[in-house]
Amino acid sequence: MALNLLFTNDRKGHYPESWYANSTALPEERSALTGDTRADVCVVGGGYTGLSAALLLAEKGLNVVLLEAHRVGFGASGRNGGQLGSGQRADQESIEKWVGQDDARKLWDLAEDSKSLVKSLVSKHNIDCHLKPGIAHMCFSQKEVREEHDYANFLEERYGYTENQKLDHDAAQKICPSPAYVGGSLDMSAGHLHPLAFAIGLARAAEAAGVRIYEKTLVSKIIPGVPARIETEKGTVTADHIILACNGYLGGLEKKVASRVMPINNFIAATEPLGDEATKVLTQDIAVADSKFVVNYFRLSHDKRLLFGGGETYSYRFPKDIGALVRKPMTEIFPHLHDIKIDFAWGGTLAITMKRMPYLARIQPNILSASGYSGHGVGTATHAGHLMAEAIAGEASGFETFSRIPTMPFPGGPALRPPLLVLAMSWYALRDRLGI
Ligand SMILES: Cc1cc2nc3c(=O)[nH]c(=O)nc-3n(C[C@H](O)[C@H](O)[C@H](O)COP(=O)(O)OP(=O)(O)OC[C@H]3O[C@@H](n4cnc5c(N)ncnc54)[C@H](O)[C@@H]3O)c2cc1C
Repeated sequence: MALNLLFTNDRKGHYPESWYANSTALPEERSALTGDTRADVCVVGGGYTGLSAALLLAEKGLNVVLLEAHRVGFGASGRNGGQLGSGQRADQESIEKWVGQDDARKLWDLAEDSKSLVKSLVSKHNIDCHLKPGIAHMCFSQKEVREEHDYANFLEERYGYTENQKLDHDAAQKICPSPAYVGGSLDMSAGHLHPLAFAIGLARAAEAAGVRIYEKTLVSKIIPGVPARIETEKGTVTADHIILACNGYLGGLEKKVASRVMPINNFIAATEPLGDEATKVLTQDIAVADSKFVVNYFRLSHDKRLLFGGGETYSYRFPKDIGALVRKPMTEIFPHLHDIKIDFAWGGTLAITMKRMPYLARIQPNILSASGYSGHGVGTATHAGHLMAEAIAGEASGFETFSRIPTMPFPGGPALRPPLLVLAMSWYALRDRLGI
């Protein structure tokens, strides 16, 4: 891929102009790595994956260095919709077909662990990130509502999951009075949070546990071996283990991962505070994700702005007017907001896999990678970091369960990414328009 997404849409070392960066205390910039250093583990990437891995490794007494090309939480972890969803990104019925019932059960339990992990990290480290319960899935047609309710029944019968409340038209309207929605479900065990505040809090906890974090430190090369070596602009790290936690921003740093994990961009707008009008959007402080393939997702911020995510693009470059892009799906869901002022609008790069399941892989005996959370990383990425840390410490069963999921390369390899992206986005957008 010609574009380096680490630098295509952003300024080096700066958080994007998001509502998130404007509503949380940003830490002092950490220094870049200079000279040569030694570590037990070197973590590349300072999002949820890398930070939670580093934190747990340091708590286990290992000497950990974390290298981040920009700032901690610069990537998807500081820009996302903040939804801490239940389950894996793919549905359990598909997962059972891919890996069999035993591993499907384990993956369900691991997903439950990931929700609990986020909640416990927030509470253990006193991370002030407005974590609140509740995600509703909203549907556009009675057919989708039936499917949503059938899936809730399936989860209850097969996995004993009883947290999904079924919403008929009136119950859905009571929570979210959008003319677009006709029903859905509500899961109060899921939740939502301020994503950048969570990432910054994890970094603070990691440092307190002894992790050395270097910012503005781009890793340009990994030289496998025992120990392995990492090269950056002004320094090197020699480490017994390496963790790759670069997700959508990996570029060509590791070819096997790059062929299986495709970056895509997504966008969010924050309106001006809605004040008393906020109840025309949501009457409860929960988050919503809907049934479109190019999903609309939204929630209210703690200062009562609508944070709305959605919109399609067909290029790796962010559009000039992100607000205008997001306003379109936003007014399809909430027509009364056609003239609302948008105070902030930003994009971010996430990563998907063919099956929409994370790709956890042992690239070398001492080089682990986790990425490709497919829009479901608040819990899953945080947890994948933990699983890699545990694997390094000798308990690899969770990591191995994920790595048994068959993950195919995308056709064509990285060179075909931009045309493939256009094709994929056109297909999903078309399905949404046709309502299939
Ligand atoms: C707009 C948007 C909305 C989303 N909404 C949700 C949601 O509501 N719920 C949900 O669960 N998920 C959501 N996601 C997905 C979620 O944010 C990600 O899955 C998750 O943050 C991934 O975390 P990560 O640490 O793996 O990656 P990132 O947070 O992207 O971190 C990777 C880091 O690696 C660094 N890096 C990359 N290459 C190098 C290098 N060579 N040298 C040094 N550093 C490097 C980058 O600078 C970056 O900071 C959303 C994503 C986006 C973009």
